[in-house]
Amino acid sequence: MVINPATEEPITEVAMATVEEADAVIEQAAKAFPAWRDLAPGDRAALLRRFATVVDDHLEELARLEMANSGHPIGNARWEAGNVRDVIDYYAAVPERLFGKQIPVPGGIDVTFREPLGVVGVIVPWNFPMPIAAWGFAPALAAGNCVVLKPAEPTPLTALRLAELAEESGIPRGVFTVLAGEGPVVGNRFVSHPLVRKITFTGSTAVGRKIMAGCADQLKRCTLELGGKSANVIFADADLESAAAAAPAAVFDNSGQDCCARSRILVQSSVVERFLELLEPAVKAVTVGDPADPGTQMGPLISAAHRDRVAGYLDGADIAYSGRAPAGPGYWMPPTVLLGSATIDRTWREEIFGPVVSVLPFADEADAIRLANDSDYGLSGSIFTRDLGRALRVSRAVQAGNLSVNSNSSVRYWTPFGGYKQSGLGRELGPDASDAYTEEKNVFFSDK
Ligand code: NAD
Repeated sequence: MVINPATEEPITEVAMATVEEADAVIEQAAKAFPAWRDLAPGDRAALLRRFATVVDDHLEELARLEMANSGHPIGNARWEAGNVRDVIDYYAAVPERLFGKQIPVPGGIDVTFREPLGVVGVIVPWNFPMPIAAWGFAPALAAGNCVVLKPAEPTPLTALRLAELAEESGIPRGVFTVLAGEGPVVGNRFVSHPLVRKITFTGSTAVGRKIMAGCADQLKRCTLELGGKSANVIFADADLESAAAAAPAAVFDNSGQDCCARSRILVQSSVVERFLELLEPAVKAVTVGDPADPGTQMGPLISAAHRDRVAGYLDGADIAYSGRAPAGPGYWMPPTVLLGSATIDRTWREEIFGPVVSVLPFADEADAIRLANDSDYGLSGSIFTRDLGRALRVSRAVQAGNLSVNSNSSVRYWTPFGGYKQSGLGRELGPDASDAYTEEKNVFFSDK
């Protein structure tokens, strides 16, 4: 049963596929592969551009579907649907630009080719069901692969609709198939089926480890986008007003259910009290409520179980202040700021994946770098300072894949995205994403 997390009302029922159904879909994709691979580059590009246009024609429908299924505020959901369109459109340029190299060698010529892998399995989480799906399927399809995609159990609706829109665009049957199912059943079958040549997985680090171990059996390629516990580092020389004004959105966007959430705020000790004073009104001003209201900034959490898990982190924690949240039905939680005390606290170390942030002071630049890197994760982070040299030094020293200076934004489809350490393996997005869906073949032609 698919539930609206803002109302707790059922939306619809979606059947979970069996292993046999997964096998049938994978085999159908494998059959569709040769024709898709061999399609003239311009024709594959044209089909992807048409897909982007059809998504654009259904933007509002997709946004409303996501709002109902995931509880995302309508403004966010519209951005997400638009991101799907833009990502497909961006990678539609790939088929006509899938360049190899000509490498100078003695005795002949040497050229390289980028060849698609075959069937790619994309497994996505529930927090951003639409964009994360597109970051996988768009570059994979563009490089000439067929894709089987499994949405997360609670949020299958937009992915299923996107598959219908692909078919409506003229993308041949079997090239892009979405199959709702359980992780250990359908997701695991993608990993174990020999016809699936690559897995692109986004989700928790715990499941990511299992996926990688499963892929090892067949030396299956995998890209992993996993958890995070990112630091927002604010130096005394920063524009404190704007850093404090920006900090809530950097962690409470999508109710904190964001792998890039800056859930550890590090503030230089000389300004930490002033920063906390400036942060309080910004946190209390976050509008939490009806996702259909265009003024809403934060919706509910995805489920009762997840809300209870997040709330468990507040037991015994030192709460500085919190914002508001609606009473009544829906899995609501107010945005909450904790005063960090020790870096061994589980609130400081673990990915809470809810609207909870901890603030901890640091002494100097070296201390800030040490604390920012004292994490198993390394996905994103921010540095606020007016000192350009410091911005350069700290952004090079922090071990994370996506950093922003005097900004909190991490994701742009034009630039690579992915994690250091236990936040992942490989990169998505950016100009080279399709390369991760190809093998590089080298051919030498003798001049004899
Ligand atoms: P999850 O790991 O529980 O599930 C992710 C997906 O994997 C789901 O589709 C699930 O059905 C599937 N799955 C579960 N067990 C499986 C198995 N044994 N074999 C194959 N597939 C299996 O994660 P979640 O709770 O849906 O999402 C939250 C997590 O995702 C957070 O840790 C978050 O940080 C992470 N995430 C990372 C990124 C990133 O880009 N780095 C982006 C978004 C979310």
